[in-house]
Amino acid sequence: MNILVINSGSSSIKYQYFKKGETTPIVKGIIERVGMEGAILSHTKKGLDKLKKVLPVENHKKGIEIILDMLEDKKYGALKSLSEIKAVGHRVVHGGEAFSGSVLIDDDVIKALEDCTELAPLHNPPNLLGINAIRELLPGIPNVAVFDTAFHSTLPKHAYIYAIPYKYYEKYKIRRYGFHGTSHDYVSTEGAKMLGTTRDKLKIVTCHLGNGSSIAAVDRGKSVDTSLGFGTMCGIPMGTRAGDIDPAIVPFLMEKEGFSATEMRDILYKKSGLLGISEISSDMRDIEKKAMEGDEKAALSLKIFAYYVKKYIGMYAAVMNGLDLVIFTAGIGENGWEMREMILSDMEFLGIKLDRSRNRFRGEQKIITTEDSRVKVAVVPTNEELMIARDTEKIVKNRRGGDE
Ligand code: AMP
Repeated sequence: MNILVINSGSSSIKYQYFKKGETTPIVKGIIERVGMEGAILSHTKKGLDKLKKVLPVENHKKGIEIILDMLEDKKYGALKSLSEIKAVGHRVVHGGEAFSGSVLIDDDVIKALEDCTELAPLHNPPNLLGINAIRELLPGIPNVAVFDTAFHSTLPKHAYIYAIPYKYYEKYKIRRYGFHGTSHDYVSTEGAKMLGTTRDKLKIVTCHLGNGSSIAAVDRGKSVDTSLGFGTMCGIPMGTRAGDIDPAIVPFLMEKEGFSATEMRDILYKKSGLLGISEISSDMRDIEKKAMEGDEKAALSLKIFAYYVKKYIGMYAAVMNGLDLVIFTAGIGENGWEMREMILSDMEFLGIKLDRSRNRFRGEQKIITTEDSRVKVAVVPTNEELMIARDTEKIVKNRRGGDE
């Protein structure tokens, strides 16, 4: 089935178009700076050089129009008529408690997504703008929502309820939701295949380490715990987000510095993590470079990052009462072999024996442990768009009773 995948963020829209039966998109691209001066379209078609254009994109609807025009473009496009698109899959960040899997979008789903907006104020509104634009511009074509939270809907209650007064769960639905679910789902499936088995037979820790990072315990195919929670600031320190901190720090700093709730959130969300510690950058490559040059805070931020990932792997092995496979993915997980080495050093007690020479690569799908390592570690490049396309096809086919 020909499927368009849309990932509509606050100021960017990413897209990929998959032709029937293919696992790599024939065209893909991104519009950045939507709604701002100097929006940029970057578009790639298999076999051609990347096209870059600066153009006015005043809102998400205009952005989607431009994407649809590109798909029909004689040279850079992939279809003669938009009617060749059989379904559109949308990444949606937060499905709240309402959605435990991908769904066909109708008016009720839109309403439920609007109801989740309070839980993801930065992400769900632009997701909805993308969905509404497609519904308007491609009427009659089925749309499917694939949620970042859905894969973690299997968390047991003792893993998702926080130890604060229970009434706040009942009143505001404050609980652990978890994110990056599409990625954890995809890499755990692919990683099991690399071991010649299926994930329902394995205890896996998946480490999605990018600008935003999360770790998940995937016990025989089900997510049973994950490091992101109610929001996207906890767990391991990220590019600019704090990760787990003592909650006592929040009122302390608010009182000492006179911060408002918004200012405090900005500090924990935008000024902490690798950037906060290193005082250099949120980007792992910049920090590694400075650390190599002898910068102490850069080196410390790397150590802290590695320490937290190690801690979570250990915690989740305990949670699952065992461990067969650890998977690294996303920008740092796929490319940062130096960071992988820092994390995986001295973990022999847990059955992990890193093969240092095998580990020295960037961006490939490979096992990086020794032959006799009891627990295997794999690098699996994530592919959220393919996962969204697969889910979209499944949902639309089910609706139609198996035909196309
Ligand atoms: P993502 O959010 O998945 O795009 O990941 C972004 C993060 O991956 C940034 O911190 C980058 O510095 C990091 N990254 C990308 N390439 C490399 C690399 N070659 N070595 C180390 N980190 C990298």
